[in-house]
Amino acid sequence: MSIERNLTRKFIFERADIRGEIVHLDSAYRDILAIHAYPPGVARQLGEFLAAAVLLSTTIKFEGRLILQAQGGGEVPLLMAECSNKLEVRAIARGAETATASEFSGLFGSGHLAITIEPDEGQRYQGIVSLDSGSLAGCIESYFENSEQLATRLWLASDGRVAAGLLLQQLPEQVTREAALRAEQWEHACTLAETVQREEVLELEQEALLYRLFHEDKVRLFAGELVRFACSCSRERCHNALLSIGPTELLKLLDEEPEVKMDCEFCNAQYRFKRSDFTAQLGDARSGALH
Ligand SMILES: [Zn+2]
Repeated sequence: MSIERNLTRKFIFERADIRGEIVHLDSAYRDILAIHAYPPGVARQLGEFLAAAVLLSTTIKFEGRLILQAQGGGEVPLLMAECSNKLEVRAIARGAETATASEFSGLFGSGHLAITIEPDEGQRYQGIVSLDSGSLAGCIESYFENSEQLATRLWLASDGRVAAGLLLQQLPEQVTREAALRAEQWEHACTLAETVQREEVLELEQEALLYRLFHEDKVRLFAGELVRFACSCSRERCHNALLSIGPTELLKLLDEEPEVKMDCEFCNAQYRFKRSDFTAQLGDARSGALH
């Protein structure tokens, strides 16, 4: 029996300054895998990236997206997963079709993970951490540790069918003011979460998983929010991208080919442009005039 659950849910510890997030993706994850022919090891890593992108994106308070991007010297030169504030996800593993490794280190080698927060309007923010931790969760945790942000731990799991994860994050002082007690409460929550098994993250209902881990603590679980696969590409964006190369280059391109092709590597959408699509910007082909 399998239930379609593309849900992320927040929870809080009522007697400690700790928040959490729990995500479970099935069809949203499988829709992405269906577009590409990734080997099982890559598909599993991509699932962990998706789950982590959702978990980290849930703190974004503006219109925009969170992007996780691993770039290294391993078999997969680039793996990227995005989640928007509307909980729309997409992901890609570039050059991954022939990868044979199944573990994080073998797939990515040495390199770095970029965590980017990209508002639709305004300044983007990017944090960088090395890929040396041996797992995506480890890399993200050391990023939070090094950047002196709020302590954050993640548990991620993915099996090519389901991608899921759990996040714990310390909150600024509110319930507990005493430093030693704050540290003790954080330690306690992490120790309990540490007992979680991969199968439990993948298979248990979210309520059941939280009960299994934190039933002795007072934890409040909020309603789930739906996550879905959706690509942000569009004909208009491709049109603008072509215009951005400049009129001379674009005219050259349109003269060489009857159609300029732009394919989206995330969703395989195909966009085709002819000279006449740019009449408004480049003028009429016969007169050759530039506006
Ligand atoms: Zn697309």
